[in-house]
Amino acid sequence: MNEHAVVIAGGGPTGLMLAGELALAGIDVVIVERRASQDLDGSRGGGLHSRTIEVLDQRGIAERFLSAGQVMQVQGFALIPLDISDFPTRHNYGLALWQSHFEPILADWVGELGVPILREREVVGFAQDDTGVDVELSDDTSLRAEYLVGCDGGRSLIRNAAGIDFAGLDPSTSWMIAEVEMDEEPEFGFRHDSVGTHAIGRREEGEPIRVVLTERHVEHTGDPSMDELREALIAVYGTDYGVHSANWISRFTDMSRQAASYRQGRVLLAGDAAHVHPPQGGQGLNTGVQDAVNLGWKLAQVVNKTSPESLLDSYHAERHPVGARVLHNTMAQVALARADDRHQALRDTMTELLGMDEPRRRIAAMLSALDIHYDLGEGHPLLGRRMPDLDLHTADGPKRVFTLLHDARPMLLNLGEPGGFDISLWADRVLAIDAEYGGDWELPVLGHVAAPAAVLIRPDGYVAWVGDGTDTGLRDALTTWFGSR
Ligand SMILES: Cc1cc2nc3c(=O)[nH]c(=O)nc-3n(C[C@H](O)[C@H](O)[C@H](O)COP(=O)(O)OP(=O)(O)OC[C@H]3O[C@@H](n4cnc5c(N)ncnc54)[C@H](O)[C@@H]3O)c2cc1C
Repeated sequence: MNEHAVVIAGGGPTGLMLAGELALAGIDVVIVERRASQDLDGSRGGGLHSRTIEVLDQRGIAERFLSAGQVMQVQGFALIPLDISDFPTRHNYGLALWQSHFEPILADWVGELGVPILREREVVGFAQDDTGVDVELSDDTSLRAEYLVGCDGGRSLIRNAAGIDFAGLDPSTSWMIAEVEMDEEPEFGFRHDSVGTHAIGRREEGEPIRVVLTERHVEHTGDPSMDELREALIAVYGTDYGVHSANWISRFTDMSRQAASYRQGRVLLAGDAAHVHPPQGGQGLNTGVQDAVNLGWKLAQVVNKTSPESLLDSYHAERHPVGARVLHNTMAQVALARADDRHQALRDTMTELLGMDEPRRRIAAMLSALDIHYDLGEGHPLLGRRMPDLDLHTADGPKRVFTLLHDARPMLLNLGEPGGFDISLWADRVLAIDAEYGGDWELPVLGHVAAPAAVLIRPDGYVAWVGDGTDTGLRDALTTWFGSR
């Protein structure tokens, strides 16, 4: 039986990101993936939000994605556009990049980090004991791991086999989605009727046509057929536009469910395995990637035995509320898109509200995940929030904060007297950087905040401690997050 520190079930966006994070920390990790390649059957994520671009920037790989996609204002609440170009981030935009392009780029990075992907096989079961997990594969082999992470999507076998409750709402609406050719020129753009919103579009000239149709009924078994697509087109547009040559036809719903617990002993859940919701607002892939960045360094420290297992509880404590908030806002977006006069009136009201600065900033910061505030207690507004990517002056010359995070190591950033802190006991774990920064401190939504004298930054880019010119609380924060000495 092959042994690994961590086995990840599922090599989609979440599993890949988690594997990269673990590999950066030197952990022996393997991905088990059902698909033969990163090719995707069907349409999935259409782009990245600002915070996801930031976390990729923190690892030095944002440019790979930016150069493959199209930088633009992608944010929208129930299709009401939200501009974030005034947000205090280097990436004050989103990135239009299909998941089918996103995944291979991420997989290349994971490959460079040396992570093996066992393809064309599935995790079919597992049994955990006090020291590890036996992971059964579909090819009749098994793996032994210290931890198993289910990144195996919305129908997660890991979640089901662990018996973790997946509570939430059944679907109220179903959409058919297809990539096809048409003999006649269709009506491109959105169409609203009493059933809902429908859309026909083409990514680029010469590419196949994409169709999204709200269905009249919610209950269906399996993927739709070409005949069902024709019928649905005729029902909405009065013609099927001579539709033919489907690359794929599938459907999705507004089912909203979340795992009651993201951890059960040595088994953890991340991404769609932990939360499913409709695609309104484009948050699923983004949330999964950020789950992975929250979990990766914590799991690495537990495996390395620098931190106790209890550190893993902070993964659920921090990410479950974020997932719950995503479910909540997608429910609101689905409700707002209902096609009747009363909902249209509500939508008009929301459009007016979101045209005002304060509501726009709040909702856009939530959708882009730039406003995430992990509950790390009372204190400076930076505590528990994302560290801004400041341009620093260091003894080694100018450096961006995100560049200093490329190796996914924690960092004490001292902006006061050089050498003002003695953290030599943690020297093998925590980078100590003396730097000068004379600019503004501005956070999304909150605006300007007082300049701190020092900050302790976690590998995921969130601030774990803020110094007021003394080292009060620093040892406790170092111990809590990076282990005792
Ligand atoms: C129509 C549509 C539009 C969307 N638009 C957006 C968007 O614009 N923005 C956004 O952020 N998100 C969007 N999403 C959501 C996004 O696609 C998902 O949230 C994202 O794919 C989740 O990534 P994941 O890695 O957690 O799960 P998945 O992508 O589902 O990956 C799970 C992986 O696990 C593998 N697997 C499953 N079971 C096993 C097993 N037992 N053993 C081994 N391997 C297994 C699968 O083959 C798969 O590769 C959209 C989704 C849909 C359906």
